[in-house]
Amino acid sequence: MVQSMTKTDTRDVMSTIHQIKELEDCGCELVRVAVPDAEAAQAISAIKRGISIPVIADIHFDYRLALMALEAGVDGLRLNPGNISEPEKVTTIAQAAKKRGVPIRIGVNAGSLPKVANPNLTIAEQMVEAALGQIRLLENLDFDLIKVSLKAFDVPTTIEAYRDIAQKIPYPLHIGITEAGTPRTGIIHSTVGISTLLYLGIGDTIRVSLTAHPREEVMAGYEILKSLNLRQHGPILVSCPSCGRAEVDIVKLAEEVEEELLKIDKPIKVAVMGCVVNGPGEAKDADIGIACGKGKGVIFKKGEKVGVVEERDFLSALMAEVERF
Ligand code: SF4
Repeated sequence: MVQSMTKTDTRDVMSTIHQIKELEDCGCELVRVAVPDAEAAQAISAIKRGISIPVIADIHFDYRLALMALEAGVDGLRLNPGNISEPEKVTTIAQAAKKRGVPIRIGVNAGSLPKVANPNLTIAEQMVEAALGQIRLLENLDFDLIKVSLKAFDVPTTIEAYRDIAQKIPYPLHIGITEAGTPRTGIIHSTVGISTLLYLGIGDTIRVSLTAHPREEVMAGYEILKSLNLRQHGPILVSCPSCGRAEVDIVKLAEEVEEELLKIDKPIKVAVMGCVVNGPGEAKDADIGIACGKGKGVIFKKGEKVGVVEERDFLSALMAEVERF
């Protein structure tokens, strides 16, 4: 499942609902909200009334905020063992969560690890130890609605930690790379980490953390799942890189088509190709495509030519075929 996190002030209920609705519209299936204080925890009940997807409360330092979020009807909790580790506090939270059937994610972050007994452990090993410590505590309380994440900025460290813990526990894993950066670099960091893990069969929910609007996170998450054939959600755009053969501005056209495709829900593969010589052949498995020549372009459907259009109509003609498909 694709997850994201709001970037609004959780206490601002209207803005938070608005942002979650935007995320729902682009396919977000789970959303986490920051809970820095009591007001934010209490706002969760009003937020939940305005949205349709489950909400996870992100809790740090103060275990009482977890109890308040549970009172407010939250669907999941994320606890960081680096800052809430005292057994009595975790026990109080777990008992309240168990009563309501609410899962807890043990969200380990390499940047805020608890102290470990053995300082010779690698960061990945320390992350795994931190998670296992809290897992044991919850299991001793007969609490098994557990989910785990082990996020680091460093991709190989993250992969190593998840591979290790996946062999040791039966619980679902939420995967991602933390503080991945702006979309330009962050999508690459996240894709390398998340895709490697998914390809190894590791990971149940994903989040692409980006310094950007969370819509970008959801869209990147879906692209990762689509490229691994794990999810079919909305259209797939196939576009050629362009080369010296192209006689139109294929970059501009591909960007315009991509923008239009955001409005479409159905799974369809759409190709935008820069020349009529190689275009139709290179994109023959597309459902609908256009191969652009000088002044004119060929629209094709499942590899078969279905029409010729003028350059000014490239976008509208292609989108009309997409709509019809
Ligand atoms: S489809 Fe044509 S323009 Fe595009 S990369 Fe291939 S040869 Fe070049």
